[in-house]
Amino acid sequence: MSTIGALHATEILDSRGRPTVKVSCTLAGGAHAAVSVPSGASTGRAEARELRDGDPARYGGLGCRKAVANVETTIATALRGRAFAEQPALDRALLELDGTADKSRLGANAMLGVSLAFARAQACERGLPLYRHFADLIGTQPLHLPRLTVNLFSGGKHAGGQVAIQDVLLVPGAATIDDGLAALYAVYQAAAALSAERYHARALTADEGGLAPPFEDAQAMLATAVDAIARAGLRPGVEMSLALDVASSHFYRESRYELDGNALSAGEMIARIEDWVRRFPIVSVEDGLAEDDWEHWPELHGALHGRALTLGDDLLCTNPARIRRAVAENCADALLLKVNQIGTLSEAADAYALARAAGWRVTVSARSGETEDDWLADLAVGWSADQIKVGSITHSERLAKYNRLLEIERETRLPTVAWPSVVT
Ligand code: PEP
Ligand code: MG
Repeated sequence: MSTIGALHATEILDSRGRPTVKVSCTLAGGAHAAVSVPSGASTGRAEARELRDGDPARYGGLGCRKAVANVETTIATALRGRAFAEQPALDRALLELDGTADKSRLGANAMLGVSLAFARAQACERGLPLYRHFADLIGTQPLHLPRLTVNLFSGGKHAGGQVAIQDVLLVPGAATIDDGLAALYAVYQAAAALSAERYHARALTADEGGLAPPFEDAQAMLATAVDAIARAGLRPGVEMSLALDVASSHFYRESRYELDGNALSAGEMIARIEDWVRRFPIVSVEDGLAEDDWEHWPELHGALHGRALTLGDDLLCTNPARIRRAVAENCADALLLKVNQIGTLSEAADAYALARAAGWRVTVSARSGETEDDWLADLAVGWSADQIKVGSITHSERLAKYNRLLEIERETRLPTVAWPSVVT
C-alpha cells in the first residue's frame, strides 16, 4: 500500500517552448518523485484531451495553469491520505474523478502527470530502478533492450510540410545501443553533408531534431537516406535500415492522399508504399493510411506483411477499443505506444497487453513536444518494447532518453532485441 502524502504541479516549458505539466508526488512514507508530461503536434483525433487554458493572450491559448490547478486542488484533495495498493487502483480513482470519456474535465496532461509521478514514487519507495517497477506493473521482467528507430529526415507537421511524409527514420542493426548510437552519428553527419551539397541547406532541424532540407518529393527523401548510409560506410538494409512515419492522416482530404502533387486513392497510396518498400530497405511503416480509413488498412497490412511492420499511431491512439477493432479487422501488426495518447499508465498497459496478445510488435514512442525527463527509456525497457522512437540524436530532450538507455544497458547488460524474422 502506498499512501498519497502530497501532489504538486508546475507549468514548465517543453522542447517547442510551449507549456506542459510537471507533477510531483510524495508518498506518506517519504518517497518523492516528479514527472514531466510530453505533448504531440501530429496528434490523432481519438487522443485523450490535454487541458489548455485557451487564453489567447498567454502562449496563444496553450497555457497549462488550469491543468496545474486541477492537480493541486481537485486531484490532490480527493487523493491525499488515500492508500493505493497498485497503479490500476490509483488510475481508476483518477478516471472516476474525471468522469469523461476523453479526460477533458481534469485534462489528460494533469491525469498522466499524477499517474506517472505515483509510479515513479512507488519505484522509489520500493528501492527499484523505474524500469523494474514498470515491468512489475505488467507482471514481467525486462527481457531485452529496444531497437532504436531514430529520425533522420523530417517533413509534415514537424517541419513546415515541405514534404508531406513526416519522418524517415534510421534503424541500426547493431547488437548494442552503444554501437547503434555511434553508427547513427556517422549517418546523421553524412546526411547533413549531403543536404548541404544537394540542397544548399544548412543543418536546420525539425521539431524532433530530424534534418529538413527541401526535398522535391518523398522518394528523394528516401534515396538521400540510403545515400547517407552508404556514405557513412554502412551497408543499407544490413547495418542500417529505414523506417517511415508517413503520418498520412495529415494529408488525407476527401478520401484522397495529397502526396507530392498528386491526389491518390487509398489503393494508389498502398501501391506507392509497396513500391518504396520494394526499392528501399524499409522495415516498418507507421500510419501508411489515415486514422479514419479503416476500410483500407487490412489491404495495406496484406501488402506489407512479411516485408515490413504495419505500425499504427493515429489509427490506434494507444486506445484499447481501437486496438481491439484493428486486431479484429487485421489492420496492423504493430502498436505505437504513446502513454499520453490515452492518459493513464494502466490504460496504456491494457493497450500493450492487447497488442501482445495479438502477437503484435510494440514501439514505445516519445512526442514531438518533449522534456528533459527520461521515464520513457525505463518504460521501453520495463515493457520489453521491440522499438523505441524518441526523435533524432540531437536536442537534449531526445538525448536524455538515449543517455538513460546507455545507463540501463551498462547496468543490466541486457541484449538488444532481434528484428522480427520477417524483416531480417
Ligand atoms: C508521431 O507522429 O509519431 C509523433 C511522435 O508526433 P507527435 O508527437 O507530434 O504526435
Ligand atoms: Mg506517428
